[in-house]
Amino acid sequence: MTTSPSPGLYVHIPFCSAICPYCDFAVTTGGSERRGRFIEALLAEIGRDRGSALDGWDPFDTVYLGGGTPSALPVDELGRLTAEIGRRLPLADRPVISMEANPEDVTSQTVAGWAQLGVDRLSLGIQSFDAVELAFLGRRHDPAQAVRAVELSLASGLTVSLDLIYGLPEQSPPAWQRNLERAVELEPHHISCYQLTVEPGTAFARRSRRGEWNAPGEDDLAELFFRTHEFLATAGYPAYEVSNFARGPRSQCGHNRKYWEGARYLGLGPSAHSFDGRSRWWNHSAEPVWRSVVEAGGNPEADRETLSLEARALEFVMLGLRTPCGLDLGKLDGFEPEDVLRRNQRVLARAADEGLLSVEGERLVPTLGGMARADAIARSIELRRSRGFGGC
Ligand code: SF4
Repeated sequence: MTTSPSPGLYVHIPFCSAICPYCDFAVTTGGSERRGRFIEALLAEIGRDRGSALDGWDPFDTVYLGGGTPSALPVDELGRLTAEIGRRLPLADRPVISMEANPEDVTSQTVAGWAQLGVDRLSLGIQSFDAVELAFLGRRHDPAQAVRAVELSLASGLTVSLDLIYGLPEQSPPAWQRNLERAVELEPHHISCYQLTVEPGTAFARRSRRGEWNAPGEDDLAELFFRTHEFLATAGYPAYEVSNFARGPRSQCGHNRKYWEGARYLGLGPSAHSFDGRSRWWNHSAEPVWRSVVEAGGNPEADRETLSLEARALEFVMLGLRTPCGLDLGKLDGFEPEDVLRRNQRVLARAADEGLLSVEGERLVPTLGGMARADAIARSIELRRSRGFGGC
């Protein structure tokens, strides 16, 4: 598959003021002393000698500060990070810097400080505009703070994205739609809508095991999903990925697009993943383990895998089918489009009959229903190397 010309840089900041009951990211709480040690370790990881690992990589044209809660760090500490990144890593002339922020951290001072550091894009963890839903999700902000955070961020001139969560137990379609309406009224550039899932090891999983969880049924979830896409498209936010909606191409998240398009990326910080087009590797997940390795001058990589051509193709197909443009089979390395189409004639015809996708030349284009079932469709497609391909 083709890679975009420039890779992206991801930096994981694992600290949060409390752990939300649904969260299964590599996150932790910790006071200023522990956060200070983390920053020093991250600076050391940024400056680490990578040997030839980045040989042949173009400069990074996107930087994504994610977490965790990057906005929980003081602005001057974030400034030390961005300065060190600029000094030690190859950056494009004007990389787009994105940062995740929680509403309770957004003030006119912090948002001005982030803009001064060169942050272009804020992804705000709003999740809901309803006080009861926010309390259920264990969030630390209220609806008024959510609105204020969006307004302050937009007033500062940043590109603003809102994260929302749907599919809460007993959440009715009208209740979810009120969240969407509130989001659209605020006129952000971008909205992400994620379905609440109960992940192993979370507080919600424990509640679920105790029988205290009234999960929405599949039909209810499907209704919320379709309502989300229809409402946002009508409101001027068409989907460009199954969970992501933007006012126009310039409002889309260029960094996240790299993941979907098979681009290279380097990840720094605990749990961060990297990909060079063929192999993927990832750092130790627990912050103390990651930090102790870095403090000792070591490589915090926990493990790596080399993806076979077929595994890379499967990922490319899955990710492509999550986008309304679908995927161009001509971009699958080592596969002839006609060969893939011929081998999968029956599977693709069935998917088309079920209203899940259409075949347009060498392109597989999913419907909305197809995007919702992208993984299952991709797994049903037989991907075997074409004859005469030389291998990895
Ligand atoms: S604020 Fe975000 S990253 Fe932190 S615990 Fe909550 S969901 Fe997870």
